[in-house]
Amino acid sequence: MVKGNFFISTAIDYTSGKPHIGHLYEKVCTDAIARWNRLRGNKVHFSTGVDTHGLKIQRNAEKKNKTPKKFVEELTKDFKKLCETYNITYDDFISTEDDRHKKIAQELFQKLYDNEQIYLSNYEGLYCVDCETYYMDKDLKDGKCKIHDKKCEKVKEQSYFFKLASYEKDLLEHLNQDFSVLPKKRKNEIINRIKEGLNDLSVSRRNVDWGIKVPFDDNHTIFVWIEALMNYISTLDGIKSKKFKDFWPGVHVIGKDIFWHHTVIWYSILKALKLPLPKTVLVHGFVNISGEKMSKSKGITIDPLVLNKKYGADGVRYFLLREMPFGDDGDFSENSLKNRINNELANDLGNLLSRTISMILKYFDGKAPNGKKDENIVNQLNETFKKSDKLMDNFEIDKTLAEVWSFINYCNKYVNDQKPWEKEKKEDIIYNLYESLKCISILLSPFIPETSEKIACQLGLKKCGSFKELKFDNVKAKVVKGEMLFHKLE
Ligand SMILES: [Zn+2]
Repeated sequence: MVKGNFFISTAIDYTSGKPHIGHLYEKVCTDAIARWNRLRGNKVHFSTGVDTHGLKIQRNAEKKNKTPKKFVEELTKDFKKLCETYNITYDDFISTEDDRHKKIAQELFQKLYDNEQIYLSNYEGLYCVDCETYYMDKDLKDGKCKIHDKKCEKVKEQSYFFKLASYEKDLLEHLNQDFSVLPKKRKNEIINRIKEGLNDLSVSRRNVDWGIKVPFDDNHTIFVWIEALMNYISTLDGIKSKKFKDFWPGVHVIGKDIFWHHTVIWYSILKALKLPLPKTVLVHGFVNISGEKMSKSKGITIDPLVLNKKYGADGVRYFLLREMPFGDDGDFSENSLKNRINNELANDLGNLLSRTISMILKYFDGKAPNGKKDENIVNQLNETFKKSDKLMDNFEIDKTLAEVWSFINYCNKYVNDQKPWEKEKKEDIIYNLYESLKCISILLSPFIPETSEKIACQLGLKKCGSFKELKFDNVKAKVVKGEMLFHKLE
């Protein structure tokens, strides 16, 4: 279990279009990990934000007859709204348009230049505007970018280059460490790609105005991918700050499409700046929609805000965290979302709570009874927590939820077996149920925070506690009959 300060980031979202369910997935995963670490008593810095520069945004803005600045300001609001709607507890929302970021990106770029890691030369090659990335012929399929299925543009221009090729050995050495990249299969993928050989990287653009100026040459802007990665340092106020000393290095949560940039490019830049490399780059898969790859042009996309209106923040959060196998692609469909809400949230969890509350109201006038601990249930809880905590160390969110769910169902079986309504002496059984529910609300709060607060409130507690409170103690609370946690859906 990680102790002390904990830094975690999402990728910053590219403001070329509105947020989709893939953006949301990354945010709820990161939020769950951040919240879990706060419950452990760690001090957490969780950053998210937007990546606002580059040719694609410049062109998209032109198409809409807007200045790039106006264009990204509007989309930035949408990404913030997404966070708010889904209770994403970031500590910092950074935009690469923020002055604080521009200043730090320029400082770092200057430092690379001063360290002789950057030189001026000419570039000739193929460029995918959507990826904002240069490719070699071998990376393409029939001259098209494999991610966007779009023809790459031939570009020839003067450019600054970063000495990426000289970092091959350093990269391989770092990648061989245990937690460097998760899941492991991604690590092997990148190692194989590095072994094919690295080229120096073009890190400036002459023809792109919408970006941050190269500090020592006004004719160039810094390549968007380079300065965007630097947001992980600007969110900590730069390399000389106390925050940086306290929190660096951290965990970067990213999608599999930008995995190369976050390992090969970012690691080499950090090496060149003589900074420690990230603890972990955590790579998640894509959210497919009813078996098909998300595609805006084909209309295969889901608006997370619409989804929220239909199913609530926790219904959607729960589904994404539980259904998607962490690290692999997963599938979204409204049917399986409804099934999970009905079976797991409304039935397993909702019924356990409403039965327990009803019995406390009926038999004890609403005052939760004290009783004798059932050692089996206590052991089961301790075991559940131990396993979950270990799983969260490996960021296996879906498995953690399954673990907590097996405890919920253990409690359901306990009521069914014990049948307190048939017994003369009911307080022991009901005491154990009450305490279990209190602990369940704590264990679930990183994943479905609103629901956890509702459970705590119905149990008569001021708020949902931290892991320190994961134990059975003396109850003094008066329960409150509240609304059903989840309504069954047709
Ligand atoms: Zn592309």
